[in-house]
Amino acid sequence: MEKMMKEYIEEAEQALLHTYNRYQVVLDKGEGVYLYDIEGKKYLDFCAGIAVFALGYANKKYNDALKAQIDKVIHTSNYYYNVPAIEAAKKLKKVSGMDRVFFTNSGAEAVEGAIKAARKYAYLKDGRTDHEIIAMEHSFHGRTMGALSVTGNPKYREAFEPMIGNIRFARLNDFDSVLSQVTERTCAVILETVQGEGGIFPAKERFLQQVKELCEEKDILLILDEIQCGMGRTGFMYAWQKYGIKPDIMATAKALGCGVPVGAFLMTEEVAARSLTSGDHGTTYGGNPLAAAAINIVLDLFEENHIIDNVKETGVYLEEKLDSLVSRFDFIRERRGLGLMQGLVFDRPVGDIITAALERGLILINAGADIIRFVPPLIITKEHVDEMMAILTDCMAI
Ligand SMILES: *Cc1c(COP(=O)(O)O)cnc(C)c1O
Repeated sequence: MEKMMKEYIEEAEQALLHTYNRYQVVLDKGEGVYLYDIEGKKYLDFCAGIAVFALGYANKKYNDALKAQIDKVIHTSNYYYNVPAIEAAKKLKKVSGMDRVFFTNSGAEAVEGAIKAARKYAYLKDGRTDHEIIAMEHSFHGRTMGALSVTGNPKYREAFEPMIGNIRFARLNDFDSVLSQVTERTCAVILETVQGEGGIFPAKERFLQQVKELCEEKDILLILDEIQCGMGRTGFMYAWQKYGIKPDIMATAKALGCGVPVGAFLMTEEVAARSLTSGDHGTTYGGNPLAAAAINIVLDLFEENHIIDNVKETGVYLEEKLDSLVSRFDFIRERRGLGLMQGLVFDRPVGDIITAALERGLILINAGADIIRFVPPLIITKEHVDEMMAILTDCMAI
Protein backbone atom coordinates (compact mmCIF):
# COMPACT_ATOMS: atom_id res chain seq x y z
CA MET A 1 0.00 0.00 0.00
CA GLU A 2 1.14 3.51 -0.71
CA LYS A 3 2.36 5.62 2.13
CA MET A 4 -0.25 7.77 3.81
CA MET A 5 0.12 11.41 4.73
CA LYS A 6 0.92 10.67 8.35
CA GLU A 7 3.93 8.57 7.39
CA TYR A 8 5.27 11.19 5.00
CA ILE A 9 4.89 13.87 7.64
CA GLU A 10 6.85 11.78 10.13
CA GLU A 11 9.59 11.27 7.54
CA ALA A 12 9.62 14.98 6.78
CA GLU A 13 10.09 15.81 10.43
CA GLN A 14 13.09 13.47 10.55
CA ALA A 15 14.78 14.94 7.50
CA LEU A 16 13.86 18.59 7.10
CA LEU A 17 15.14 21.32 9.35
CA HIS A 18 12.22 22.30 11.50
CA THR A 19 11.84 25.99 10.62
CA TYR A 20 8.11 25.77 9.84
CA ASN A 21 5.12 24.53 11.79
CA ARG A 22 3.50 23.09 8.72
CA TYR A 23 -0.17 22.28 8.28
CA GLN A 24 -0.71 18.53 8.40
CA VAL A 25 -1.22 17.92 4.70
CA VAL A 26 1.01 16.60 1.95
CA LEU A 27 0.01 18.31 -1.28
CA ASP A 28 0.29 16.42 -4.49
CA LYS A 29 -1.11 18.24 -7.49
CA GLY A 30 -3.19 21.16 -8.64
CA GLU A 31 -5.87 22.02 -11.17
CA GLY A 32 -7.06 25.59 -11.64
CA VAL A 33 -7.76 27.04 -8.19
CA TYR A 34 -7.84 23.63 -6.50
CA LEU A 35 -5.09 21.59 -4.89
CA TYR A 36 -5.20 17.90 -4.04
CA ASP A 37 -3.37 16.10 -1.27
CA ILE A 38 -1.78 12.69 -1.77
CA GLU A 39 -4.89 10.99 -0.41
CA GLY A 40 -6.99 12.68 -3.09
CA LYS A 41 -8.73 15.28 -0.94
CA LYS A 42 -9.58 18.48 -2.81
CA TYR A 43 -8.89 21.98 -1.48
CA LEU A 44 -10.03 25.37 -2.72
CA ASP A 45 -6.82 27.40 -2.61
CA PHE A 46 -6.98 30.96 -1.28
CA CYS A 47 -3.25 31.05 -0.58
CA ALA A 48 -1.76 30.41 -4.04
CA GLY A 49 1.54 29.32 -2.53
CA ILE A 50 1.69 32.72 -0.75
CA ALA A 51 0.55 34.98 -3.56
CA VAL A 52 2.61 33.11 -6.13
CA PHE A 53 0.47 30.93 -8.38
CA ALA A 54 -1.56 33.75 -9.94
CA LEU A 55 -2.55 31.82 -13.06
CA GLY A 56 -3.83 28.73 -11.31
CA TYR A 57 -2.40 25.24 -11.36
CA ALA A 58 -1.80 23.03 -14.38
CA ASN A 59 -2.24 25.86 -16.84
CA LYS A 60 -1.50 24.14 -20.13
CA LYS A 61 0.11 27.08 -21.92
CA TYR A 62 2.32 27.83 -18.93
CA ASN A 63 3.37 24.19 -18.55
CA ASP A 64 3.99 23.76 -22.29
CA ALA A 65 6.18 26.88 -22.42
CA LEU A 66 8.30 25.60 -19.56
CA LYS A 67 8.57 22.12 -21.05
CA ALA A 68 9.68 23.57 -24.37
CA GLN A 69 12.37 25.63 -22.67
CA ILE A 70 13.55 22.62 -20.63
CA ASP A 71 14.07 20.73 -23.87
CA LYS A 72 16.16 23.58 -25.29
CA VAL A 73 18.34 24.72 -22.40
CA ILE A 74 17.70 25.42 -18.72
CA HIS A 75 20.78 27.31 -17.70
CA THR A 76 23.68 29.11 -19.36
CA SER A 77 24.97 31.63 -16.71
CA ASN A 78 25.09 35.38 -17.03
CA TYR A 79 28.39 35.35 -18.93
CA TYR A 80 26.30 35.01 -22.09
CA TYR A 81 23.07 36.45 -23.40
CA ASN A 82 19.94 34.35 -23.74
CA VAL A 83 16.80 35.20 -25.69
CA PRO A 84 14.22 34.38 -22.97
CA ALA A 85 15.92 36.78 -20.53
CA ILE A 86 16.08 39.56 -23.13
CA GLU A 87 12.39 39.12 -23.90
CA ALA A 88 11.47 38.95 -20.21
CA ALA A 89 13.40 42.13 -19.41
CA LYS A 90 11.68 43.99 -22.26
CA LYS A 91 8.24 42.85 -21.14
CA LEU A 92 8.91 43.67 -17.52
CA LYS A 93 10.09 47.16 -18.47
CA LYS A 94 6.89 47.64 -20.41
CA VAL A 95 4.48 46.58 -17.68
CA SER A 96 6.37 48.42 -14.93
CA GLY A 97 7.48 51.59 -16.68
CA MET A 98 10.92 51.08 -15.10
CA ASP A 99 14.07 51.15 -17.25
CA ARG A 100 16.58 48.51 -16.13
CA VAL A 101 16.11 44.98 -14.84
CA PHE A 102 18.31 42.65 -12.79
CA PHE A 103 16.91 39.12 -12.38
CA THR A 104 17.29 37.29 -9.07
CA ASN A 105 16.24 33.91 -7.72
CA SER A 106 13.96 35.12 -4.96
CA GLY A 107 12.31 38.10 -3.38
CA ALA A 108 14.90 38.50 -0.66
CA GLU A 109 17.65 38.66 -3.26
CA ALA A 110 15.76 41.35 -5.14
CA VAL A 111 15.69 43.38 -1.93
CA GLU A 112 19.42 42.77 -1.40
CA GLY A 113 20.14 44.10 -4.86
CA ALA A 114 17.92 47.11 -4.31
CA ILE A 115 19.79 47.96 -1.09
CA LYS A 116 23.16 47.61 -2.81
CA ALA A 117 22.05 49.82 -5.69
CA ALA A 118 20.86 52.52 -3.28
CA ARG A 119 24.07 52.45 -1.26
CA LYS A 120 26.21 52.58 -4.39
CA TYR A 121 24.20 55.52 -5.73
CA ALA A 122 24.81 57.47 -2.53
CA TYR A 123 28.47 56.43 -2.39
CA LEU A 124 29.09 57.75 -5.88
CA LYS A 125 27.58 61.08 -4.82
CA ASP A 126 29.57 61.79 -1.66
CA GLY A 127 32.07 58.98 -1.15
CA ARG A 128 30.76 58.21 2.31
CA THR A 129 30.36 54.68 3.59
CA ASP A 130 27.93 55.33 6.42
CA HIS A 131 24.66 55.82 4.58
CA GLU A 132 21.36 55.13 6.25
CA ILE A 133 18.16 53.51 5.07
CA ILE A 134 14.71 54.22 6.46
CA ALA A 135 12.44 51.17 6.64
CA MET A 136 8.97 50.67 8.14
CA GLU A 137 7.79 49.00 11.29
CA HIS A 138 5.80 45.79 10.62
CA SER A 139 7.48 45.46 7.25
CA PHE A 140 8.69 42.21 5.74
CA HIS A 141 11.42 42.12 3.11
CA GLY A 142 12.84 38.60 3.38
CA ARG A 143 15.12 36.38 5.45
CA THR A 144 18.62 37.10 4.14
CA MET A 145 20.74 39.38 6.32
CA GLY A 146 20.26 42.54 4.28
CA ALA A 147 16.54 42.02 3.73
CA LEU A 148 16.14 41.05 7.37
CA SER A 149 17.88 44.25 8.42
CA VAL A 150 15.11 46.33 6.87
CA THR A 151 12.36 44.02 8.15
CA GLY A 152 10.48 45.85 10.90
CA ASN A 153 9.74 42.88 13.08
CA PRO A 154 12.23 42.33 15.95
CA LYS A 155 11.00 38.73 16.35
CA TYR A 156 12.56 37.79 13.01
CA ARG A 157 15.77 39.73 13.63
CA GLU A 158 16.82 39.44 17.24
CA ALA A 159 18.69 36.14 17.32
CA PHE A 160 20.66 37.10 14.23
CA GLU A 161 22.01 40.46 15.32
CA PRO A 162 24.03 42.34 14.38
CA MET A 163 22.18 43.26 11.23
CA ILE A 164 23.65 45.45 8.52
CA GLY A 165 24.07 48.85 10.11
CA ASN A 166 22.41 52.22 9.81
CA ILE A 167 18.78 51.18 9.39
CA ARG A 168 16.20 53.46 10.97
CA PHE A 169 12.55 52.55 11.37
CA ALA A 170 9.52 54.74 10.76
CA ARG A 171 5.79 54.01 10.68
CA LEU A 172 3.84 53.36 7.50
CA ASN A 173 1.26 56.08 6.83
CA ASP A 174 2.89 58.41 9.37
CA PHE A 175 4.86 60.89 7.34
CA ASP A 176 6.21 62.77 10.37
CA SER A 177 7.77 59.54 11.63
CA VAL A 178 9.61 59.22 8.31
CA LEU A 179 10.67 62.85 8.36
CA SER A 180 12.06 62.51 11.87
CA GLN A 181 14.40 59.71 10.72
CA VAL A 182 15.91 61.62 7.80
CA THR A 183 19.52 62.71 8.15
CA GLU A 184 22.13 63.94 5.68
CA ARG A 185 23.24 60.31 5.42
CA THR A 186 19.86 58.87 4.36
CA CYS A 187 20.23 57.13 1.00
CA ALA A 188 16.90 55.34 0.68
CA VAL A 189 13.42 54.77 2.02
CA ILE A 190 12.17 51.21 1.55
CA LEU A 191 8.57 50.14 1.97
CA GLU A 192 5.97 47.68 0.74
CA THR A 193 3.24 49.51 -1.15
CA VAL A 194 0.87 47.16 0.64
CA GLN A 195 2.41 45.50 3.68
CA GLY A 196 1.83 41.75 3.41
CA GLU A 197 3.23 39.60 6.23
CA GLY A 198 2.90 42.52 8.65
CA GLY A 199 -0.90 42.37 8.44
CA ILE A 200 -2.14 43.68 5.05
CA PHE A 201 -1.70 47.43 5.50
CA PRO A 202 -2.02 49.42 2.26
CA ALA A 203 0.08 52.59 2.16
CA LYS A 204 -2.14 55.67 1.91
CA GLU A 205 -1.99 57.74 -1.25
CA ARG A 206 -1.12 60.96 0.57
CA PHE A 207 1.64 59.23 2.56
CA LEU A 208 3.22 57.80 -0.59
CA GLN A 209 3.08 61.16 -2.30
CA GLN A 210 4.69 62.90 0.68
CA VAL A 211 7.44 60.29 0.87
CA LYS A 212 8.01 60.60 -2.86
CA GLU A 213 8.27 64.40 -2.62
CA LEU A 214 10.68 64.14 0.28
CA CYS A 215 12.83 61.69 -1.66
CA GLU A 216 12.93 63.91 -4.70
CA GLU A 217 13.78 66.99 -2.69
CA LYS A 218 16.67 65.33 -0.86
CA ASP A 219 17.83 62.95 -3.61
CA ILE A 220 16.93 59.96 -1.46
CA LEU A 221 15.93 56.85 -3.41
CA LEU A 222 12.46 55.41 -2.96
CA ILE A 223 12.54 51.61 -3.00
CA LEU A 224 9.16 49.93 -3.27
CA ASP A 225 8.91 46.26 -2.38
CA GLU A 226 6.18 44.94 -4.66
CA ILE A 227 7.08 41.32 -4.11
CA GLN A 228 3.70 40.37 -2.67
CA CYS A 229 1.42 43.23 -3.73
CA GLY A 230 2.76 43.44 -7.29
CA MET A 231 1.94 41.42 -10.40
CA GLY A 232 -1.67 42.47 -10.67
CA ARG A 233 -2.76 41.48 -7.19
CA THR A 234 -4.20 44.86 -6.25
CA GLY A 235 -5.88 45.45 -9.60
CA PHE A 236 -2.81 47.23 -10.92
CA MET A 237 0.25 45.54 -12.36
CA TYR A 238 2.24 47.21 -9.61
CA ALA A 239 0.38 48.72 -6.69
CA TRP A 240 2.21 52.06 -6.91
CA GLN A 241 0.69 52.58 -10.35
CA LYS A 242 -2.57 53.28 -8.54
CA TYR A 243 -1.10 56.28 -6.74
CA GLY A 244 0.50 58.36 -9.47
CA ILE A 245 3.97 57.98 -8.03
CA LYS A 246 6.95 55.99 -9.23
CA PRO A 247 9.76 54.38 -7.26
CA ASP A 248 13.43 54.80 -8.12
CA ILE A 249 13.99 51.11 -7.46
CA MET A 250 11.43 48.34 -7.26
CA ALA A 251 11.55 44.71 -6.13
CA THR A 252 9.27 42.07 -7.62
CA ALA A 253 9.06 38.27 -7.24
CA LYS A 254 6.36 35.85 -6.00
CA ALA A 255 3.87 35.76 -8.93
CA LEU A 256 6.53 36.87 -11.41
CA GLY A 257 7.41 33.28 -12.32
CA CYS A 258 4.20 31.73 -10.96
CA GLY A 259 6.15 29.05 -9.14
CA VAL A 260 9.49 28.99 -10.91
CA PRO A 261 11.73 30.73 -8.35
CA VAL A 262 12.55 34.11 -9.82
CA GLY A 263 12.54 37.74 -8.79
CA ALA A 264 13.93 41.01 -10.07
CA PHE A 265 14.88 44.46 -9.02
CA LEU A 266 14.27 47.26 -11.44
CA MET A 267 15.40 50.85 -11.50
CA THR A 268 15.06 54.05 -13.45
CA GLU A 269 17.67 55.04 -16.00
CA GLU A 270 18.85 57.83 -13.66
CA VAL A 271 19.65 55.34 -10.90
CA ALA A 272 21.07 52.78 -13.32
CA ALA A 273 23.49 55.36 -14.70
CA ARG A 274 24.79 56.18 -11.22
CA SER A 275 24.83 52.95 -9.23
CA LEU A 276 25.65 49.33 -9.94
CA THR A 277 28.09 48.72 -12.75
CA SER A 278 30.24 45.85 -14.08
CA GLY A 279 31.49 43.70 -11.26
CA ASP A 280 29.25 45.25 -8.59
CA HIS A 281 26.63 42.55 -8.46
CA GLY A 282 26.00 39.08 -9.84
CA THR A 283 24.16 35.79 -9.63
CA THR A 284 24.77 32.36 -11.12
CA TYR A 285 21.15 31.46 -11.80
CA GLY A 286 19.38 34.80 -11.95
CA GLY A 287 17.41 35.21 -15.18
CA ASN A 288 18.38 31.81 -16.53
CA PRO A 289 16.49 30.64 -19.60
CA LEU A 290 14.00 28.52 -17.62
CA ALA A 291 13.19 31.27 -15.11
CA ALA A 292 12.96 33.82 -17.91
CA ALA A 293 10.69 31.54 -19.95
CA ALA A 294 8.39 31.44 -16.92
CA ILE A 295 8.28 35.24 -16.74
CA ASN A 296 7.58 35.47 -20.46
CA ILE A 297 4.65 33.10 -20.43
CA VAL A 298 3.30 34.60 -17.21
CA LEU A 299 3.28 38.12 -18.64
CA ASP A 300 1.79 36.86 -21.93
CA LEU A 301 -0.99 35.04 -20.10
CA PHE A 302 -1.69 38.05 -17.88
CA GLU A 303 -2.47 39.98 -21.04
CA GLU A 304 -4.24 37.21 -22.93
CA ASN A 305 -6.48 36.31 -19.98
CA HIS A 306 -7.15 39.89 -18.84
CA ILE A 307 -5.96 38.97 -15.37
CA ILE A 308 -5.99 42.53 -14.04
CA ASP A 309 -9.57 43.09 -15.18
CA ASN A 310 -10.54 39.94 -13.32
CA VAL A 311 -8.77 41.13 -10.17
CA LYS A 312 -10.61 44.46 -10.33
CA GLU A 313 -13.97 42.75 -10.70
CA THR A 314 -13.54 39.78 -8.38
CA GLY A 315 -11.64 41.90 -5.86
CA VAL A 316 -14.66 44.16 -5.36
CA TYR A 317 -16.85 41.11 -4.89
CA LEU A 318 -14.45 39.60 -2.36
CA GLU A 319 -14.37 42.92 -0.48
CA GLU A 320 -18.17 43.02 -0.29
CA LYS A 321 -18.34 39.46 1.00
CA LEU A 322 -15.65 40.01 3.61
CA ASP A 323 -17.29 43.27 4.69
CA SER A 324 -20.50 41.31 5.27
CA LEU A 325 -18.57 39.12 7.72
CA VAL A 326 -17.30 42.23 9.52
CA SER A 327 -20.90 43.39 9.99
CA ARG A 328 -22.12 39.99 11.01
CA PHE A 329 -19.53 38.84 13.56
CA ASP A 330 -18.56 40.98 16.54
CA PHE A 331 -15.19 39.31 16.84
CA ILE A 332 -14.12 40.47 13.37
CA ARG A 333 -12.76 44.00 13.63
CA GLU A 334 -12.19 45.07 10.06
CA ARG A 335 -11.21 44.20 6.53
CA ARG A 336 -8.12 45.74 4.97
CA GLY A 337 -6.60 45.39 1.55
CA LEU A 338 -6.71 46.04 -2.14
CA GLY A 339 -8.04 43.79 -4.91
CA LEU A 340 -7.18 40.16 -4.29
CA MET A 341 -4.89 40.95 -1.37
CA GLN A 342 -7.17 41.17 1.63
CA GLY A 343 -6.92 40.73 5.37
CA LEU A 344 -9.70 40.06 7.84
CA VAL A 345 -8.74 41.31 11.28
CA PHE A 346 -10.02 39.35 14.28
CA ASP A 347 -9.92 40.21 17.97
CA ARG A 348 -8.34 36.80 18.64
CA PRO A 349 -5.89 34.34 17.06
CA VAL A 350 -7.14 32.83 13.81
CA GLY A 351 -5.16 29.58 13.86
CA ASP A 352 -8.16 27.43 14.80
CA ILE A 353 -10.29 28.89 12.03
CA ILE A 354 -7.58 28.25 9.46
CA THR A 355 -7.19 24.65 10.65
CA ALA A 356 -10.96 24.12 10.59
CA ALA A 357 -11.11 25.55 7.06
CA LEU A 358 -8.36 23.20 5.95
CA GLU A 359 -10.31 20.22 7.28
CA ARG A 360 -13.29 21.42 5.25
CA GLY A 361 -11.20 21.73 2.09
CA LEU A 362 -10.27 25.42 2.08
CA ILE A 363 -6.70 26.68 2.18
CA LEU A 364 -6.25 30.01 3.95
CA ILE A 365 -3.23 31.62 5.59
CA ASN A 366 -2.70 34.20 8.28
CA ALA A 367 -0.69 37.44 8.31
CA GLY A 368 0.16 37.83 11.97
CA ALA A 369 -1.69 35.87 14.66
CA ASP A 370 -5.05 37.66 14.39
CA ILE A 371 -5.44 38.20 10.67
CA ILE A 372 -6.67 35.87 7.97
CA ARG A 373 -5.00 36.71 4.68
CA PHE A 374 -6.70 36.17 1.31
CA VAL A 375 -4.24 35.97 -1.60
CA PRO A 376 -5.94 33.56 -4.02
CA PRO A 377 -4.91 32.79 -7.59
CA LEU A 378 -5.81 35.85 -9.68
CA ILE A 379 -8.08 33.75 -11.92
CA ILE A 380 -10.70 33.12 -9.23
CA THR A 381 -14.32 33.85 -10.07
CA LYS A 382 -17.24 35.02 -7.96
CA GLU A 383 -18.35 31.39 -7.66
CA HIS A 384 -15.04 30.55 -6.01
CA VAL A 385 -15.50 33.46 -3.62
CA ASP A 386 -18.97 32.12 -2.75
CA GLU A 387 -17.53 28.66 -2.21
CA MET A 388 -14.84 30.09 0.07
CA MET A 389 -17.41 32.16 1.99
CA ALA A 390 -19.63 29.14 2.64
CA ILE A 391 -16.76 27.19 4.19
CA LEU A 392 -15.36 30.16 6.10
CA THR A 393 -18.75 31.09 7.57
CA ASP A 394 -19.17 27.48 8.63
CA CYS A 395 -15.85 27.76 10.50
CA MET A 396 -16.86 30.88 12.40
CA ALA A 397 -18.97 28.85 14.80
CA ILE A 398 -15.95 27.03 16.25
C1 LIG B 1 7.75 37.09 0.32
C2 LIG B 1 8.28 38.46 0.43
C3 LIG B 1 9.65 38.73 0.40
C4 LIG B 1 10.70 37.65 0.34
O1 LIG B 1 10.61 36.88 -0.81
P1 LIG B 1 11.34 35.45 -0.85
O2 LIG B 1 11.14 35.00 -2.26
O3 LIG B 1 10.68 34.59 0.17
O4 LIG B 1 12.77 35.68 -0.53
C5 LIG B 1 10.06 40.05 0.45
N1 LIG B 1 9.17 41.05 0.53
C6 LIG B 1 7.84 40.83 0.56
C7 LIG B 1 6.90 41.98 0.63
C8 LIG B 1 7.35 39.53 0.54
O5 LIG B 1 6.04 39.30 0.62
